[in-house]
Amino acid sequence: MDLIDRANDAADMLLQDAIERRQLAAQKAPSIIACGHCHNCTAPVAQGLQFCDSFCRDDWQRVQNARRRNGEQP
Ligand SMILES: [Zn+2]
Repeated sequence: MDLIDRANDAADMLLQDAIERRQLAAQKAPSIIACGHCHNCTAPVAQGLQFCDSFCRDDWQRVQNARRRNGEQP
């Protein structure tokens, strides 16, 4: 196996890892509808996902928590 093969394998693993983490992040998100767009930044996301990444999910969750603290209903 040469260097390029190894680099390709490493890249594949990183990509797979990123995809899995993204799916996991979406699963942990609160029960909101997956509408094809990130609920935080409105970027288009894959079907079934609510957020484009864990940062957006956390950001959105922070806002929801703040609203709840301030007595606002979801
Ligand atoms: Zn987003």
